[in-house]
Amino acid sequence: MIIIIKKDNFMSKVKVDENLCIGCGTCEALCPKVFKLDMDSGKSKVISDNCEECDCQEVVNSCPVNAISIEEGK
Ligand code: SF4
Repeated sequence: MIIIIKKDNFMSKVKVDENLCIGCGTCEALCPKVFKLDMDSGKSKVISDNCEECDCQEVVNSCPVNAISIEEGK
């Protein structure tokens, strides 16, 4: 059995620390709805706080320089 828990009452705020980001593109490859590499700066940008396909925790864990954080609140 699969149980899906929706976090309707919570909003997530995804952040990329541009001082840490090395522009590897991993986050965009894993979740292009939320992350996009900015061609001018070479850094990743957050383009949406709302990803319905994942909770982006895998992306946070995959960033080689720990530049991504997720803050959750009501
Ligand atoms: Fe930058 Fe991390 Fe995304 Fe790579 S995975 S582009 S270092 S934020």
